[in-house]
Amino acid sequence: MFPATSFKGRKVAVFGLARSGTACIEALLMGGAEVHGWDDSMPAVEKARAAGLPVSDLHALDFAGLDALVLSPGVPLTHPEPHWTVLKARHAGIDVIGDTEVFAREADRAGAIIVAITGTNGKSTTTALAGHVLAAAGLDVDVGGNIGKAVFLLRQPVKGRVYVLELSSFQIDLMPGLKPRVGILINITPDHLDRHGTMENYAAVKARMFLRQGRGDTALCGVDDGWSAAIAGQAAAGGADVRRVSVLEDLTDGIAAPDGILRDRRDSKLVGEIVLTDMPALKGRHNWQNACLAYGAARALGIESSAIAAAMRGFPGLAHRMQQVGRVGAIAFVNDSKATNADAAEKALSSFENIYWILGGIAKSGGIDPLRPLFGRVARAYLIGQAAEGFRAAIGDALPAEICGTLAKAVAAALRDARQDNRAGAVVLLSPACASFDQYPNFEVRGDAFVKAVAQLPGVEMTVAGDSHAART
Ligand code: ADP
Repeated sequence: MFPATSFKGRKVAVFGLARSGTACIEALLMGGAEVHGWDDSMPAVEKARAAGLPVSDLHALDFAGLDALVLSPGVPLTHPEPHWTVLKARHAGIDVIGDTEVFAREADRAGAIIVAITGTNGKSTTTALAGHVLAAAGLDVDVGGNIGKAVFLLRQPVKGRVYVLELSSFQIDLMPGLKPRVGILINITPDHLDRHGTMENYAAVKARMFLRQGRGDTALCGVDDGWSAAIAGQAAAGGADVRRVSVLEDLTDGIAAPDGILRDRRDSKLVGEIVLTDMPALKGRHNWQNACLAYGAARALGIESSAIAAAMRGFPGLAHRMQQVGRVGAIAFVNDSKATNADAAEKALSSFENIYWILGGIAKSGGIDPLRPLFGRVARAYLIGQAAEGFRAAIGDALPAEICGTLAKAVAAALRDARQDNRAGAVVLLSPACASFDQYPNFEVRGDAFVKAVAQLPGVEMTVAGDSHAART
């Protein structure tokens, strides 16, 4: 915790008393601001009061006397309708900002460097990978934001320290001053439209990543979807170095890896090349995209290709996202518990062959029908949870499928069959294509249960610790 000095002697309301909100209140207080905290949840208000934080009912407070409202990114700013505090703030004509904006002002004052990452998918992986590569190269790095720690729980900004921040659209929406040294936009596909209204609005929020950038800044932008490609076209307006990134086609100017070989070209000249196909934690085209962006960030901060490649090879991957957790002989066990829908499971199924696929839970609409074209990569399926019967019917005779009920039974059955079949490169993959709530509180606990079941197999060699905390990199 460290002081947020930009509101010294000024008056601020903070709405939303979860971890990021309370950390921001403490930072503002330390920095000499007058702070009024509040939440719609009375237990949250009482908890903050008990912790000695200044709470006041914002219904009763005159916002005209405030300098800003700091809003939690979980609270609706625009859709489906603005929260009552937002309406009050607008009426009073004051700024509505997030803790990340308050932090960015602090970082700017201190001369720290911000690498900001957003996109519909791949944010956490790209953030963790970029943080890993920069740290391995010897930079002084902190990683946080939407992933891991709230920004005011990171270390105090000092000159030259690099902050790799994962930013959701909601956080960007609350950052009118966002101007990262390196801005990354991975991709844009329909998501969270309930909170952003239209695709146009959602894309416009993501476009703000580059809006205020200027000379000396780098804009890294995926161009494999129309929305991001359009944003890349405008990103150069302020003079930033724009690097386009594709994993669908080679680029004469940009960073591309359509065949898994990252090639960085400027004006057709090859300036960097990294083979991604043998990186254990970067399997699949989607991860090549993440790798190209993390590479671009590292290059922008002066790191050589060879050092980036070495660091990427040692990236342990993020827990629950296609992470190899152990091996029994040549059989690999991969935890992709985060794949809570068919779209995410498709990434894992496309990344391996000879798959012993564990799936099930609470099915999403559309079930697993979109995955049918990938069944050829699957040796057998093991069904768990509520969706088991329905999925068996959906699979029909396309694949041998067994209802196992629990994860532990599924892991044991998959190992038995993989051993018997003795296929090269066999992978026991938990990629459930379902929510976890029928059997687990969340996907993390489900993934941890998988890791634990694997850790108990005779002869297993774990690549992450059998207890979950170490797996959560
Ligand atoms: P986020 O933080 O944006 O939710 P993660 O890095 O946690 O993204 O990845 C979540 C899931 O999204 C992964 O399990 C994978 O299925 C998919 N994914 C990861 N990177 C990408 C990408 N670049 N493009 C599309 N899908 C991706």
